[in-house]
Amino acid sequence: DKVNYLESIHKDDFEEFQNQARLVLKEQKEEFTFKPYRVIFEDKTSWVSQISKLIRNDAGEIDQIYGYLTDVTKQVQIEKDLQSYIDIINENVLISTSDTHGHITDCSQAFCRASGYSKSELLGKKHSVLKHKDSSDLMFKELWGTITQGQVWHGEHKNLGKDGKLFWVENSITPSIDKDNKLIKYTSIYNDITTKKEISELLVTDYLTKIHNRRYFNEVFDLEIKRSKRHKYNFILIIIDIDYFKQYNDTYGHHEGDETLIKVAHALKNNLHRPEDYTFRIGGEEFGVITSDITLEGAKTIANILVKEVEKLNIPHESSKISDYLTISAGLKLVEVNEELTYNEIYKLADKALYDAKENGRNRVICSK
Ligand code: GH3
Ligand code: MG
Ligand code: MG
Repeated sequence: DKVNYLESIHKDDFEEFQNQARLVLKEQKEEFTFKPYRVIFEDKTSWVSQISKLIRNDAGEIDQIYGYLTDVTKQVQIEKDLQSYIDIINENVLISTSDTHGHITDCSQAFCRASGYSKSELLGKKHSVLKHKDSSDLMFKELWGTITQGQVWHGEHKNLGKDGKLFWVENSITPSIDKDNKLIKYTSIYNDITTKKEISELLVTDYLTKIHNRRYFNEVFDLEIKRSKRHKYNFILIIIDIDYFKQYNDTYGHHEGDETLIKVAHALKNNLHRPEDYTFRIGGEEFGVITSDITLEGAKTIANILVKEVEKLNIPHESSKISDYLTISAGLKLVEVNEELTYNEIYKLADKALYDAKENGRNRVICSK
């Protein structure tokens, strides 16, 4: 019964059903598939898919519309579940896909939020728009080497979003292939690890000078000794101490003393250029430099440059007994490849050399024998 049937259509879907039925009649669609809608029979709601056919009389006029119904409740439920997963992923998971040349073809809303770009700004752009200048080219070479072989790549890198927005990610890139085993796209799933990175950065940074702190000094000292043994490099520790800094504070005040510590820290750091060089603030007005794989002459040259460069900052120090300007002294210990010394022994030898530098007139480098 036609009337009863219309009454059995779910009220939320009725208007859409009506619109489609009107369209069938208006455009005289001989065969038409309705969008699935809900019907209620005997208090039970089901999703149905309807195919309608026009039945014409001998004169060719529309006589009847036949509707063939199929119960698609299960399929619709599966699709809805799937769509709700997709919605959850879109909002919460950082995902992007790119073609084989690295052009972004899709990305999630969560990825847009993390990068600060809208989806339309990202689509079609190369993934490298997000590359941060600090990221190593070697890592990206290894990344492309892996995924172009059809292998999954995992790694951590810094990203540069819109307006300089920085974010760190753990990235897993999975290549997809077509039926002929041809690579067609890459899917990246990211974990935002910015907070974790910021905390670990804070843990190794000196609050005043923003160079590495004592905690990181101990860590690097240990690792670099082991690494230099493994690779048969020598290992160099330089301990640096500002000359007459107590008098400096007494003359210019503690605040000016702090400003000077920052200037000295940056002078040290900016004059060390090799990737093996590390600079630390290891105490109040004491700094440490760790480096490796360099001759004794080379190490002495580096230490002497640091001493000269600090004096060249021309920071007035009227109560210094040795110069008109602020100066530093340095003690250096080079550990030979076959020399077996503990952390404490190395530290003591460098510290003794520093003491000798102070005793021998300051503003100089002394090397431990
Ligand atoms: P020397 O040439 O023998 O090294 O003399 P010195 O006065 O530098 O050495 P000393 O160890 O006697 O004094 C170190 C001074 O460094 C003590 C303190 O006033 C100052 N100092 C240590 N940490 C800080 C800091 O964080 N800020 C400032 N402004 N001063 C500091
Ligand atoms: Mg001191
Ligand atoms: Mg001092």
